[in-house]
Amino acid sequence: MTDQERRAKVEARAARIPPRFRGVYQRAMEGKSRAAAVRAKCQECVGYEDVTEQVRGCTDPACPLWPMRPYQASSPGVGIGPDGEEVEPIEDEDREDSPGATTAP
Ligand code: SF4
Repeated sequence: MTDQERRAKVEARAARIPPRFRGVYQRAMEGKSRAAAVRAKCQECVGYEDVTEQVRGCTDPACPLWPMRPYQASSPGVGIGPDGEEVEPIEDEDREDSPGATTAP
């Protein structure tokens, strides 16, 4: 696969992601943040619906991402700030209904 083909696939996938979650996906796809990659995958896994509660209460403890999934009370350093930067997790700030929730710039 060429870089151009990969970029086209990434752009097509990004276009299907609700805008408020797109920034985390794009950060993940830059390959610079494992935290963003885990977060983006978990957001996708639950279909971008009721993300905080669905991921926090994930019922597949056999998933390789389960121990690192975001939105836990004691997430091991997987917080993403409003601009996609890695920050210490602040659970309420990332809630979907929060005005400061993670969004694409
Ligand atoms: S930890 Fe749960 S929500 Fe995250 S990818 Fe795995 S199964 Fe999906």
